[in-house]
Amino acid sequence: MADLTPHALRVLRARYFLRDAEGRPVEDAAALFRRVARGVAAAELDYGSRKDAEAWAERFEAAMAGLDFLPNSPTLMNAGTPLGQLSACFVLPIDDAIDAIFQTLHQTALVHQSGGGTGFNFSAVRPEGDRVVRTGGRASGPLSFLRVFDRATEEMRQGGKRRGANMGILDADHPDVEAFADAKRRPGVLRNFNLSVGATDAFLEAVEADADWALVNPRDRREVRRLPARALFRRIAEAAWAGGDPGMVFLSTINRQNPLPGLGPIRATNPCGEVPLLPYESCNLGSLNLARRVRGGEVDWEGLRGLVHLAVRFLDDVIRVNRYPATPFALMAERNRKIGLGVMGWAEMLIRLGLPYDTEAARRLAGEVAAFVRAEAEAASAALARERGAFPNLPYARDPERPRRHATLLSIAPTGTISIIAGTTPSIEPLFAVAYTREGVLGGEALPEVNPLFVRMMEEHGADWRRVVREVAATGTLEDVPGVPEEVRRVFRSALEVSPEDHLKMQAAWQAHVDNAVSKTINLRPEATPEEIERIYLEAWRLGLKGVTVFRYGSKGQQVLELGFHP
Ligand code: ADP
Repeated sequence: MADLTPHALRVLRARYFLRDAEGRPVEDAAALFRRVARGVAAAELDYGSRKDAEAWAERFEAAMAGLDFLPNSPTLMNAGTPLGQLSACFVLPIDDAIDAIFQTLHQTALVHQSGGGTGFNFSAVRPEGDRVVRTGGRASGPLSFLRVFDRATEEMRQGGKRRGANMGILDADHPDVEAFADAKRRPGVLRNFNLSVGATDAFLEAVEADADWALVNPRDRREVRRLPARALFRRIAEAAWAGGDPGMVFLSTINRQNPLPGLGPIRATNPCGEVPLLPYESCNLGSLNLARRVRGGEVDWEGLRGLVHLAVRFLDDVIRVNRYPATPFALMAERNRKIGLGVMGWAEMLIRLGLPYDTEAARRLAGEVAAFVRAEAEAASAALARERGAFPNLPYARDPERPRRHATLLSIAPTGTISIIAGTTPSIEPLFAVAYTREGVLGGEALPEVNPLFVRMMEEHGADWRRVVREVAATGTLEDVPGVPEEVRRVFRSALEVSPEDHLKMQAAWQAHVDNAVSKTINLRPEATPEEIERIYLEAWRLGLKGVTVFRYGSKGQQVLELGFHP
């Protein structure tokens, strides 16, 4: 069992360990990883002998206990338990009909109860004030239903282990899109939703050309009104400047790469954007810890290869043993078998290799690692297809001649909690800072954190890290702090020191090899402008990203990570 940080233990104790009737934790980390490994490897009994299944359980356990690979939170919480819902990501349909919307609300509650997050595109809903033929009344519009879903999420959070997360999308040509862009500008509104505008190439081309843009009623496809594309784009950027929402999802890019075009277009993603999905699809995620794949100053390719194959098998087994919140989810999961293998600890890998995050060399390595993981995951999926059969909806795929077990393979998830458990940097994000305060996670007190790798490197250089950390605490950056060796300063570039362009380029370097999507935050300094956000959104689209999210430091009153220590 690898050493866990105090933070990791706190998080595990608060939310992951099974509890007895009195609410006392009844397992430790080793027992948790054993429970998950056995629960997932139970699938192997359907394909092989008991002895084989036990051998796989041991391998799964070693990978998790070694913090080399971790599945998404619901798998850690629920595998090997009667609940048994293991997926993090779901997308549900929103039709323009009360019955259907409230059926989806019901199914959403079941997903949230089981620990999953949900995404929706509300664009089929007729706009506010539109005619309702049956009752002769006026339609309440997509935003009113967003509020209903938000409220339900809010009320359910008490019971569950974490509060539910949602993605709400409205297409740029919906008549209510301006109100949607502004929807989160008042504090506390829709706080259980991330919002994204669904943008096609046509919209972004209209922005580029400074052309007019038509808003269309989805009920009859009639044009309702026109406005300059740039006026709408500015409004979106201003709202994102004020509070981070809305982001954008690039629907044309997503659909050019839709792995199952025969099943129809994709219009939504899961809450953090890393998995574009059809209605009733779900995806289970797992992440490789790249921080642990550096040996002797080099990438441990052989170790990585073995872990990719193991992880793909693990995620395939998850689909088998998963208990879905409702039948339509089970059917889609079994027919499409989408999985999302990703990474965490990328920034830590770069630091260990001595490569600054915002360099061409770092991006080149990102491309190499991503291409390697992709190729090995494809090989693993093809091998499983020979052993267990291809996914049943293969005939609807873009290339149905190539047998494989899964419609998709890779996703770069935020790894918000599992990177804490693994004790490394989240996802492909740069370090947040060398020293920072983690605000009251799990209702606890604010905790100061100093990056242990920074401490070690400073000690190796004989430098006084305590004094430096005190100074960094005030500003959050190493930039002007004396006494930091240049070599150390270069590799400890933090999220706000990396320019937005370099954030985007790193996201693009990974996205080029990822068949699902990459969840990433483009961090902006407090003084960034709405114009800069416009440029970032356009650049993200031009770089071929599937979505983009910005966060301007200080634009929300309270945030999870605060620079510097509080006195
Ligand atoms: P973790 O580290 O807990 O495994 P991530 O931060 O990688 O999770 O998020 C992955 C996905 O899990 C998100 O995109 C979302 O679909 C889902 N998710 C994250 N947080 C929540 C939450 N609080 N409630 C429900 N689902 C969530």
